[in-house]
Amino acid sequence: MSTPTTLSGLTYWVKTFGCQMNFHEAERVSGLLEAQGLLPVGRAAEADVCVFMTCCVREKADTHLAGQVSAMASAPAPPSGRRTVAIGGCIAQRDANNVRKSMPRADIAFGTQALPRLPELIVQSREGKPGSLVVDVEEPYDAFSADLPQRRAHAWRAWVPIMYGCNNFCTYCIVPYVRGRERSRSSRSILAEIARVRANGAREIYLLGQNVNSYGHDLGGEPSFAELLREVALTGVERVRFTSSHPKDLTMETLDAMAEEPAIMPHLHLAAQSGSDRILEAMGRRYRKDDYLALAREAHARVPGIALTTDLIVGFPGETEEDFQATLDLVDEADLQGAYTFIYSKREGTRAARMPNQVPSEIAHERLERLAEAVRRVSAKAHASLVGSKVEVLVEGPSKRGEGILVGHSPENFTVHFPLPEGARAEELAGSIVDVEVKDARSFYVQGEIAGEAR
Ligand code: SF4
Repeated sequence: MSTPTTLSGLTYWVKTFGCQMNFHEAERVSGLLEAQGLLPVGRAAEADVCVFMTCCVREKADTHLAGQVSAMASAPAPPSGRRTVAIGGCIAQRDANNVRKSMPRADIAFGTQALPRLPELIVQSREGKPGSLVVDVEEPYDAFSADLPQRRAHAWRAWVPIMYGCNNFCTYCIVPYVRGRERSRSSRSILAEIARVRANGAREIYLLGQNVNSYGHDLGGEPSFAELLREVALTGVERVRFTSSHPKDLTMETLDAMAEEPAIMPHLHLAAQSGSDRILEAMGRRYRKDDYLALAREAHARVPGIALTTDLIVGFPGETEEDFQATLDLVDEADLQGAYTFIYSKREGTRAARMPNQVPSEIAHERLERLAEAVRRVSAKAHASLVGSKVEVLVEGPSKRGEGILVGHSPENFTVHFPLPEGARAEELAGSIVDVEVKDARSFYVQGEIAGEAR
C-alpha cells in the first residue's frame, strides 16, 4: 500500500466499545495509522483523527457512542486545524446509512471489513468537502485483520484472532449480520503470529473468535480447536486463554487439553444465556439446560480447580417468572464462580426484535437485580475460598482502587489487588508474574501481598 503523505505527522486517538475482538481491531487501527506516520495522543481534544470502534450488541453502547461523537463538535480545534471523526466496527457495518443522522459529526463510516482501507478513507475525507460522509461497508468477508500492522496496548498480552464471524444466528444477536460467516485462520498463520508476539514480550495469549470451539470446521476440521490449543500451549508461552465458547461446540478434547497443558489457564467462560429450555429454544441456542449442566459437571471433573463463568440474559421476549427462576437456579446448579448479567437488548434486524411479549423494562430490571445478587453470592464464595492461599498473578499495572495498588489476574482469572512493594515501580512490575498471598476477599476480587520475587 502506498503511503499517503498527507497523513504523516497528524495525531490520532482511538476509543473502543465492546468486545475483545473490538479491542484487538483497535490495536490494528493504531498499528495501521502509525505505519502511515500518525502519532498517538491520549485525548480526543488533541487528535486530528478520532476513531471510534463501535459495538452494536447492546443498545446502551449505541447511546453512549452517539453522545461522545456529538461532543466532538464542541472540542477545540486539533493541531492540523481539521478533525476527522471515523466510526468503525459493528455499528458502522450495520447502520452506515444512519450514521449521518444519528452522528452528524462523523466524517467516515467504515465497516468491519474496511479496516485495511482506513488510511485511504481518511485521506479521501480530508481532501473532500467538510461535512460529507465517506462510507465503506463492502462485505467481501475475506480480509483478516491479523494480517495488518499492530500496536499492542500491552506488551505482555496479545489478542490473537483465530476465526472471524459466526454461523449460529442466535435470535437476539447481530454478529452474523455484521461479521459474516465463520472463517478460520490457518494454524500456520496463527502460530507464526504467536511466535512474533512472543518475541516482542507477550506472556499471555488470548485466542479470539465469536465461537472458538467451532474453529477449523471450514478448514476440513484439522486441526480442531482442542488440537490448536495444545499446539499454542506447546509454543512455550506462559498463559493461554480463549473466548468466546459456545456450549453446543465445546468438546471433551478441549477440556482434556485444559487439564493436561499447564499453560492453558483453568478458566472457562461458557455463555449459558438462560436456564430455561423454553427461552433457550426461542434464543436458538441449540442446547438445553441439562446439556449445559452436564458440560459444567465435566469441566469441574476433568479440569481440577477450574473457574467456570458465564453470560446470562434476563427479560428475553416471553420470559416468565418460572423461566427466570430456572436461570436463577442455574447459577448454583452449574457451580459457577462468576457471571456477566445483562438485560435483553432489542437489536433491530434480529428475529427476537419481532417476537411478541417483550418483557416490560421494570420487570427486567427487577430480575436483573435478583440475578446479580445470586451471582454476587457465588462469586463471593469463590473468592473467599482463596483466602490463606498463594496465587500466581500476571501483573497488569496500577489498580483503580487507589494509589500504590496493583492489579492482575490469577490463572482462574480472579482479579487480585495488592500493594506495590516498597522501592518497586509499577511500570517495571507490569507484565511480570508474582505470587500473592491472599489475605482478604470481596465479592468480585481478592486482596493480598506479594510473596517472593517477581519473574
Ligand atoms: S453464538 Fe450466537 S450470540 Fe454468539 S456471536 Fe454467534 S450468533 Fe451471536
